[in-house]
Amino acid sequence: MSHSINDFIESIEDSLITLRRELHECPELGFTEYVTTYKIGRELEKLGFDLSIGKESMISQSRLGKPSEDVLVANENRAREMNVPNDWLEKMKNGNTGLVAQLDTGIPGKHIAMRFDIDALPIFESKEDEHFPYQEGFYSKREGVMHACGHDGHAAIGIGVAHFLHRYKENLSGRFTLLFQPAEEGGRGAKPMVEKGWLDSVDYFLSGHIGIHSLPVGEIAATTTKFLASTKYNVVYKGKSAHAGLEPNEGRNALLAAAAASLHLNGITRHADGATRVNVGKLEAGTGRNIIADFAKMEIETRGETTALSDYMREEALRILKATPILYDVKEEIDIVGFAPSAECDSEWVDIVQKACHSSERIKNVLPVLPLGASEDVTFMIDHVQQKGGSATYLVFASPLPAGHHHPCFDFDEKVIPTAVEALGRILLKLTKKL
Ligand SMILES: [Zn+2]
Ligand SMILES: [Zn+2]
Repeated sequence: MSHSINDFIESIEDSLITLRRELHECPELGFTEYVTTYKIGRELEKLGFDLSIGKESMISQSRLGKPSEDVLVANENRAREMNVPNDWLEKMKNGNTGLVAQLDTGIPGKHIAMRFDIDALPIFESKEDEHFPYQEGFYSKREGVMHACGHDGHAAIGIGVAHFLHRYKENLSGRFTLLFQPAEEGGRGAKPMVEKGWLDSVDYFLSGHIGIHSLPVGEIAATTTKFLASTKYNVVYKGKSAHAGLEPNEGRNALLAAAAASLHLNGITRHADGATRVNVGKLEAGTGRNIIADFAKMEIETRGETTALSDYMREEALRILKATPILYDVKEEIDIVGFAPSAECDSEWVDIVQKACHSSERIKNVLPVLPLGASEDVTFMIDHVQQKGGSATYLVFASPLPAGHHHPCFDFDEKVIPTAVEALGRILLKLTKKL
């Protein structure tokens, strides 16, 4: 069978790379992945999966950081112009993007779930000649939005796994649930899917990421450590405007309050128990040179190596964000718009993945573990599966990286797509192969 798996992966490789490039050209931000969801869904329908689209795939009210009504309507109109049919748009209306695809072999066995995230980032993609997507012409055609984390590749891997399940269905037992998750960036999309109950009876849960470490294609890691728990905040300070020359004393300066809060946040005392992070990534304030600024907006995040460290950072940050306005006599509005806990992969996966992949030609080396060192809201899923008695892991599919994640020049070697599909396919065969 090893030989035939190799041939099968080769036979779908080109179509997966084509799909990746189509998605790369049309990147969509969290909860606006209307075109992406439709494209993926069409493929899955052809492969005989049962689909739960948009609203059916999550608890809508649990979404954190939902975009504004205007943004959602504009994106729905954009999707309509790109020929997403009305019945699909109806199911996804109001930012209910993403979908869940299920396949039941009809033979009693394990329930395996897998998660693939599909969203992009607000980044202007590089148009330098060395940037491969630009060279090849499949760079983002949506100015200011970019697949700079590899989630276009993740979606393509998910479709590859669906092809694999379709092809090897007769050899497998149990049932399979594929979650195509919106809004991973900012830690927003996993929780509403978990709350829908998709992972309540899962024996095995698999997820993963392309890249992370710049290593050759063919290296994979069976498990991941160092998921940073994280909280995301949108903060508004409201003051009072006044003429900066005539009566500055009548003003209440929201700009200064936000600037002071930013500095104080970066001064949170580091914790003895491990790594923490804080970042004020965006600050907008004021209306003009001669006016005391009556508003300021900040986008902030804090992280911690463990959930406890993340809680510490959040409490400190909230204290500073609430105390600083008192100094300047301005009012604050603090919204928590994203959150992810930390998580740990089950160690049994090292053995499972190494045994599953040992006869593969594409997978040259299975590392037991690699550190992530970032946040990932998949931790909600890993945690939930484990609490319900299942086993979960997060693999790393290595690729050389010309630039880091979230960089305008980010890209990966497309050969990682068939490699990841083969790894996941072999693991599924190992876990559920009929005797
Ligand atoms: Zn990312
Ligand atoms: Zn990512």
